[in-house]
Amino acid sequence: MAEEDTFNVAVIGAGFLGARIITEMLLLGNKVAVFDQNIAKQRDPQTALNEVIGGLLMECDRQGLLGLAEMVPPKGGKWTPFSSEPPRQAKACSSVAEASRNAHIILEAVPDKLEIKTKVFSEAVSTARPGAILATNTLSIPLKNIQQAVASEIAGGSPLPAALRPRVMGLRFLSPVVFIPFVEVTLSAEQEKGVDKEDLTSMLRKWGKACFICDIQGAVDNADQDKIDFIRVARERLRLDTSTAQRRQVAEAKLRAAIRMGPEVVRTASADLFTETKCCICLDAKPTVPSMLCGHVALCEDCAGVVESGTKQCPMCRERFVRRM
Ligand SMILES: [Zn+2]
Ligand SMILES: [Zn+2]
Repeated sequence: MAEEDTFNVAVIGAGFLGARIITEMLLLGNKVAVFDQNIAKQRDPQTALNEVIGGLLMECDRQGLLGLAEMVPPKGGKWTPFSSEPPRQAKACSSVAEASRNAHIILEAVPDKLEIKTKVFSEAVSTARPGAILATNTLSIPLKNIQQAVASEIAGGSPLPAALRPRVMGLRFLSPVVFIPFVEVTLSAEQEKGVDKEDLTSMLRKWGKACFICDIQGAVDNADQDKIDFIRVARERLRLDTSTAQRRQVAEAKLRAAIRMGPEVVRTASADLFTETKCCICLDAKPTVPSMLCGHVALCEDCAGVVESGTKQCPMCRERFVRRM
């Protein structure tokens, strides 16, 4: 999986959040298949889905982001961002199983109810690649409850061999999702030590997403008052304020254009791509920690720790991040 550049991504649910995730997955060049209950009921589901995603792409265009990323805006429902490449379209599917066929990762954006998420994931694993990542955006359901519910749904009560163990992980995109290079990841203690974390972070690295490994799981497991506050704070943090988001989106769009032109361009241009004098993750503290390989000083002490425990990638140029001592 780590060697591939594009992934088969299934997105389940195309509501407010789901539609933005679909758009970002297309922007990043993945093969995207979608199941949404309401869209599937339409007379022409593909046209209905194209309209939703086309609308979001036009919004990116109005913000100038497609232009900065050197992508052509959609025309008449078709989107061919680069003239040298085939058009990109999220495929409208009639079931979770169809959308998940051969998927490397299933991203659910369905209502925050254990039964619904369990049903989605257990249907998805029937057609997804073996070992596909089942990514949940939940903030309120303990990860291990979803893991257990999906495992027992798949096995029908009998014990599951390790190879069939569903790989449910927490993955939340920071709003407004498109051109935002941050996600938040929640893993069980077991996943944190094992291959699951590496598989997910290697995918995030390809997408250029810096990941915050978040210990919200402990918070959800022991719902005392402090922890509930923590959940509220985490929820807040998932929404970047408008001006922070826009500054970050602009830098990200320019970086994606530079990356297409090759590492040489990124190396020479990256100082101009991100012009903030603040840490490029929190956009708040003064950056103090230099990266040894690229020389960028783009991270504050706290955020450098975040990068080191996650994708280990300089968020300014995507070179491997190694702290200069
Ligand atoms: Zn910072
Ligand atoms: Zn760098």
